[in-house]
Amino acid sequence: MPKFPMRLTKLLKITKTSICARFLSSIMTSEEKLLKKVAEPAPQAGSKVTIVGVGQVGMACAFSILTQNIASEIALVDVMADKLKGEMMDLQHGLTFLKNIKVTAGTDYSVSAGSRLCIVTAGARQKEGESRLNLVQRNTDIFKGIIPNLVKHSPDTILLIVSNPVDVLTYVAWKLSGLPHNRVIGSGTNLDSSRFRFLLSERFGVAPSSCHGWIIGEHGDTSVPIWSGVNVAGVRLREVNPKAGKEDDPEEWKKLHHQVVQSAYEVIKLKGYTSWAIGLSVATLAQAILRNSSGVFAVSTYVKGYNGIENDIFISVPSVLGSNGVSHVVNMNFTADETSQLQKSAGTLNDVQVKLKF
Ligand code: NAD
Repeated sequence: MPKFPMRLTKLLKITKTSICARFLSSIMTSEEKLLKKVAEPAPQAGSKVTIVGVGQVGMACAFSILTQNIASEIALVDVMADKLKGEMMDLQHGLTFLKNIKVTAGTDYSVSAGSRLCIVTAGARQKEGESRLNLVQRNTDIFKGIIPNLVKHSPDTILLIVSNPVDVLTYVAWKLSGLPHNRVIGSGTNLDSSRFRFLLSERFGVAPSSCHGWIIGEHGDTSVPIWSGVNVAGVRLREVNPKAGKEDDPEEWKKLHHQVVQSAYEVIKLKGYTSWAIGLSVATLAQAILRNSSGVFAVSTYVKGYNGIENDIFISVPSVLGSNGVSHVVNMNFTADETSQLQKSAGTLNDVQVKLKF
């Protein structure tokens, strides 16, 4: 072995190291050069939400949830691959302006894995003049391909059903999912109640959030306004007008409920579908569930045994929402008339449910 002077040995060593480094550098990706891995990143954060159906309603829900910073990840699922990819990309291109939310999409339900909340907006929508109940068998058949897949990939999820007729389809989802009934919820009359509060606010000249009033029962034609509870700052409308909501009321407050029932039909007639209000309503419910808020909302929930309802019915009553779904329902102080209307609503739904083919 020839003996080199000390300086030459040093130089050779340095050269060897830098050749090695240059070689390594040439085979490393830019990502590897930029970031030194310390540990495997977690596959996902804690509040993943899946939305099935990227139509007008699904995208309004997605957009409301995104902009309100409610979820850590949103996964979109639909059968229309191109539309799905387009919607995903369009949202992803706006993520810079949001707060580190991930958006994914796929026609395969594996993309939904690990969701804490699955929102179902897929299905046919009402045609002009068509009642929500007419849609039912068409959407039940669609649900057979959706619900078991969601539960397979997220066995601990909560299902939030939006597709219409929402009360019957919440029952259908419960049956198909095998989940406990507290974890299957319909968006129900949360939207109807919001429409009601908006109309009250127009009449009182007070902000909608300060006008309190509940619409319960079926989301749709037989919904029940609880006139006995309408109030502003705890002062009940019935204290100042005992006839409010009754047939012989000279001020005709009852018309407001008629407007609530008609409003979806009117919006559909005018713009073809409804989207923004239901999106905001669903985002509020999602927030209550993901943040375990124990907020009270009029959502479609299992009411067998509530106020004389005897069947497996999901219908809207004020419900306490949190991470485990519905933890309580509020025992409202109904008038005899309100109880009988609620039972009539439940009867209408049961008549439809018994005819369903699973
Ligand atoms: P839309 O036609 O715009 O979108 C429906 C989407 O569902 C489409 O993208 C379609 O490809 C998808 N879809 C159909 N079959 C599917 C399947 N098997 N798997 C996955 N995706 C599927 O309809 P929309 O206006 O978004 O309305 C959606 C539903 O929401 C309707 O049933 C409508 O009546 C209901 N809705 C409910 C409320 C409420 O308050 N509960 C309010 C408005 C609308």
